[in-house]
Amino acid sequence: MRALLFLLLIIALFLLVRFVINRVDQFRREAEWEEAARERAEKEAKIKAQQPEPMIHCELCNLHLPEKEGLCVTDNAGEKHCFCSKEHLEQFIEEKTKN
Ligand SMILES: [Zn+2]
Repeated sequence: MRALLFLLLIIALFLLVRFVINRVDQFRREAEWEEAARERAEKEAKIKAQQPEPMIHCELCNLHLPEKEGLCVTDNAGEKHCFCSKEHLEQFIEEKTKN
């Protein structure tokens, strides 16, 4: 009888240890996964920051500038025309309509 109790105790201990090991392993894996996700997000943000801004050039004065600082319009033919300022856009339209 004592031997049986001892055996049960050993089995219970074994199960407990296995449970604890599994939990620790699970926590470790979750932490690793979170770390990897964080690193991936950081890397993506870095790549995004390194990408150069799209540049355009004014069709009138040929000035190069970032697209968001310029003024781009699409004509009836579907062609994109970019300008450094509203004045140059208007001047371009004026010259186009003259021809
Ligand atoms: Zn210009």
